[in-house]
Amino acid sequence: MALDRILLATPTMHGEEMEFIQEAFDTNWIAPLGKNVDCFEQEVCEHLGVAHAAALSSCTAALHLALKLCNIQQGDIVLCSDLTFSATVNPVSYEKGVQVFVDSDYASWNMDPAALEKAFEKYPQAKAVVVANLYGTPAKLDEIRSICDRHGAILIEDAAESLSATYMGKQTGTFGTYNAISFNGNKIITSSGGGMLLSDDGEAVKKARFWATQSKDPAPWYQHTEIGYNYRMSNIVAGIGRGQLLHLEEHRILKKQIYERYLAAFSDLPLTMNPYYPNSEPNFWLSCILMEKGCEVHPLTIMEALAKEGIESRPIWKPMHMQPVFAHCDFISLGEQSVGEDIFARGLCLPSDIKMTQEDQERVIRAVRACFGK
Ligand SMILES: *Cc1c(COP(=O)(O)O)cnc(C)c1O
Repeated sequence: MALDRILLATPTMHGEEMEFIQEAFDTNWIAPLGKNVDCFEQEVCEHLGVAHAAALSSCTAALHLALKLCNIQQGDIVLCSDLTFSATVNPVSYEKGVQVFVDSDYASWNMDPAALEKAFEKYPQAKAVVVANLYGTPAKLDEIRSICDRHGAILIEDAAESLSATYMGKQTGTFGTYNAISFNGNKIITSSGGGMLLSDDGEAVKKARFWATQSKDPAPWYQHTEIGYNYRMSNIVAGIGRGQLLHLEEHRILKKQIYERYLAAFSDLPLTMNPYYPNSEPNFWLSCILMEKGCEVHPLTIMEALAKEGIESRPIWKPMHMQPVFAHCDFISLGEQSVGEDIFARGLCLPSDIKMTQEDQERVIRAVRACFGK
């Protein structure tokens, strides 16, 4: 019998999701908006400890509206994480702003506060900073926040991958003036697709909701003084999200167990795992390995060997400053060698699906170890 394929991260449903959907059907409140949307916003606010939330069609939409709230105009500089998924930084271009990418540190693979400081020396006029928490690991958020405050720039936190991770005991997605989270299919919990904009600024979230529903002026007819978007979340999607939120902490614990099993199983190999600051508790969304410098085993060799065994793995996000679409953008790094480029060259994401059994994970571990002749 062929063994099942082992995937990176797929949705894990529990049943409550269907109950919330059923309720929406029973009341014919399919869309637009509705009780599930209102409750989902409220429940996320309570869970994370943030005052206001707007449920949207995606995290990308949330990041776009966050940049609009920063009033990013043509040519405005936005300092951005370099080692991340393109959705973190694409919305800067929607508003015709200009990305400047900031290199990572080795301690968390996230934006290096010292490199951010250097970026502000070159671009003191930068209006906003977009920081991502890579693979569920918090960046040095307190320091990044205080650097932004000192330079009068607004911090936007992209917590798409880090929902339920904490830094100094505080939830990620609450450190920025504006914050974005994702419920896309591969994330720690999913609503099938969707996102939220989070902020303690109630007026700002109200404005974001206005833009997200086609910017309809308060008039008896359809009147518009601003360009609008169709960015709100449907009541069905919110129902799935509500059911999933009940299991967020459970998912985090399972993700952590996966990470720790890899950590123990690879302790004798010439590699390390994605690291985190001791004052942070990641959500361990994806477990990644980083070959030691000079290690003759290439991550793509491991990826191919795993693929032959029906096991999915993925390269680390290719840094934004290496992307053809951003070839015109500046990149700020402390040293000669870019940290993000180095992590990209030596790293690999391993299966981190919480439905993976211990036997499944043993299969992954055996296949990785075999690449090192172990
Ligand atoms: C998934 C992801 C996004 C985009 O989220 P969507 O909800 O799919 O738009 C943004 N940033 C990061 C870092 C992500 O991983």
